[in-house]
Amino acid sequence: MKEREIFDITIIGGGPTGLFASFYGGMRKMKVKILDSLPQLGGQLSELYPDKFIYDIGGFTKILAKDLVDNLVVQANYGDPAICLEETVANVERDGEVFVIETDKGLHYTKSILLTAGVGAFQPRKLGIDGSEQFEGKTLHYGVKDLTLFHDKKVVVLGGGDSAVDWAMMLENVAEHVTLSHRRDKMTAHEANIDVLMQSKVEIKKPYGVKELVGENGQVRELVLIDKEGNEERLEVDHVIVNYGNITSLGPIKEWGLEMEKNSVVVNSKMETSIEGIYAAGDIATYEGKVKLIAVGFGEAPTAINNAKAYLDPKSKIQPLHSTSVFK
Ligand SMILES: Cc1cc2nc3c(=O)[nH]c(=O)nc-3n(C[C@H](O)[C@H](O)[C@H](O)COP(=O)(O)OP(=O)(O)OC[C@H]3O[C@@H](n4cnc5c(N)ncnc54)[C@H](O)[C@@H]3O)c2cc1C
Repeated sequence: MKEREIFDITIIGGGPTGLFASFYGGMRKMKVKILDSLPQLGGQLSELYPDKFIYDIGGFTKILAKDLVDNLVVQANYGDPAICLEETVANVERDGEVFVIETDKGLHYTKSILLTAGVGAFQPRKLGIDGSEQFEGKTLHYGVKDLTLFHDKKVVVLGGGDSAVDWAMMLENVAEHVTLSHRRDKMTAHEANIDVLMQSKVEIKKPYGVKELVGENGQVRELVLIDKEGNEERLEVDHVIVNYGNITSLGPIKEWGLEMEKNSVVVNSKMETSIEGIYAAGDIATYEGKVKLIAVGFGEAPTAINNAKAYLDPKSKIQPLHSTSVFK
């Protein structure tokens, strides 16, 4: 029988917080594993806004989300972590000194856990029009991962929030023509964003609902819009991008018996949760005055890892050697 491999720490969630934690685990010579339900690392940055610039990471005046993820992955690999993608964690149980983590693919064994699961496994809110599934992943999108796909194409962006406006603006000079269509008269995007949109070449259609997508073999050809009076408008289109927001769910994590506050896990100043040996950091962790930002996760990750190190080996110090001393 294959002997079970036990890790020092298993990081649940390979977003920015989990990736930085992996690096720190390497600095503290811990045996690290990362589990994530998505097919790629990077969390919300890779899944929701890879082509957006981030302006509030210390030391970077601005950086594309996908470039930040690339850097983080290189850095995370210093911990030489075992990385398991497309694996959703369902349950955790203690078996003596070891936690047994159950996923949809199997079991993992670890002496401690760092929960960096963000807002949980997330899924985009779907268009919900009969027959639209045939276009999904081909010409019906729930995010933009590769701008070149839309080069010289006719694109309709659906939604009235900041993401919808941002995508429309990003595509303005890439696509042949961009239309933004919203079902309500009032948009929820920030006023400053709406002002920029109004000055742009993007055509705005509102208030219009979506009646139908017409096309064949995964290629949408026409988007049929409908107003409150039932009048239809048919738009010629190559790609449709839906921005109706995301449905997030912590799912089974809520059933682990951790102290929770709304949808977040309560931690103390060591990032310890209410279960000994389980730590939390990043968007999923909460305490009084918590701010949910990448920069904050970058601070909480080393706090969690260094305290977990001292939990696993009480003789080791919480304060690590400075990286300037570790790397020579
Ligand atoms: C459009 C947008 C723009 C943003 N802009 C900024 C900005 O400018 N500056 C800023 O600081 N922040 C910004 N944020 C917020 C920022 O993205 C988050 O604060 C950050 O991603 C939190 O990182 P995290 O690692 O804690 O969690 P996440 O990035 O959410 O990563 C969590 C990971 O855990 C995985 N996971 C969840 N549940 C499970 C499970 N059961 N099993 C396995 N894996 C699981 C998920 O798949 C995900 O990959 C923005 C967010 C959005 C949506």
